[in-house]
Amino acid sequence: MKNPPFNYHRPATLAEALALLAEHGDDSKVLAGGQSLLPVMALRLGRPEHIVDIGTIDDLKPISVTATGVTIGAMVRHVEAETSAVVAEHAPLVAAAMPHVGHRAIRSRGTVVGSIAHADAAAEMPAVCLATDATMHVASSTGVREVAAADFFDGFFTTILEPHELLTAVHFPSVRPTMGSSLVEISRRHGDYAMVGLACQVDAPAGVIASAALSFFGVSSKPERVTAAEEALVGRAPTPEAFAAAAAIVTEALDPSSDIHATAQYRRHIAGVLTKRGLAEATSRVGVTT
Ligand SMILES: Cc1cc2nc3c(=O)[nH]c(=O)nc-3n(C[C@H](O)[C@H](O)[C@H](O)COP(=O)(O)OP(=O)(O)OC[C@H]3O[C@@H](n4cnc5c(N)ncnc54)[C@H](O)[C@@H]3O)c2cc1C
Repeated sequence: MKNPPFNYHRPATLAEALALLAEHGDDSKVLAGGQSLLPVMALRLGRPEHIVDIGTIDDLKPISVTATGVTIGAMVRHVEAETSAVVAEHAPLVAAAMPHVGHRAIRSRGTVVGSIAHADAAAEMPAVCLATDATMHVASSTGVREVAAADFFDGFFTTILEPHELLTAVHFPSVRPTMGSSLVEISRRHGDYAMVGLACQVDAPAGVIASAALSFFGVSSKPERVTAAEEALVGRAPTPEAFAAAAAIVTEALDPSSDIHATAQYRRHIAGVLTKRGLAEATSRVGVTT
């Protein structure tokens, strides 16, 4: 299906992009990899009059390492994060998520940050941001701000981003050697959006769990952490019994919907199964950095 007509802008700099967003506001949309925006437009689910293509802005392309972690720019494509040694070392949960995002052709165009800005409830990256306490770097023509992942996602396909704002990068805190992570999900076919998924990160120094993050996707209008289950794991050894106890709390706590893909009851059951699987995988990776 053909896209509806629109005005196409290709700014060369971040300042030009922000000026265009300030000028056109509600009538504009940022174009990154186009893997979600173009289908949305073709299906007439969105009809922006102005498209601001950020694909040629060099400032948005780097993956950079700082003292506190790794920062992924808005034009870093999924495949670049998937194959990046620094992402694997400093943000292994991001690297683990990448192979689950669609298919390789989609990952060669789609961007990590675009996936976060799009905020699909069944997408991997928003849940990874929540599990890792990532920080969103937001810019507009009037300034910049940083937003914690916990405050960024607002509901189905909705974030706190204003129409004139651009998500320039996302910062993921470096993992410690005592940490392990995993991304597990159930989908009908590999590459499909998950029916339920879990981004999981555990800190277990000296064989005792000091903290755990259990961030689910596909169970609500936005990614959801189950803090009661996370807290129940603290102070326990990483054993199947501890994981089963956490899974029981998750199954009680989540309140997913039924849809054409799965019933709510099935989703709750799968969330429990994934809790045990994800925790076993994450704790087996404590100290493994690649
Ligand atoms: C067949 C198919 C299967 C897929 N399967 C999966 C999957 O399993 N898991 C998954 O997570 N994704 C999946 N995707 C989506 C894919 O990951 C997209 O690449 C991603 O959701 C959006 O990234 P993009 O760079 O293509 O963004 P675009 O399509 O360019 O933009 C998406 C939205 O985000 C906004 N946006 C993009 N970048 C910014 C920015 N820097 N600042 C502000 N707003 C911005 C756009 O305005 C638009 O509203 C699939 C896509 C397809 C077509």
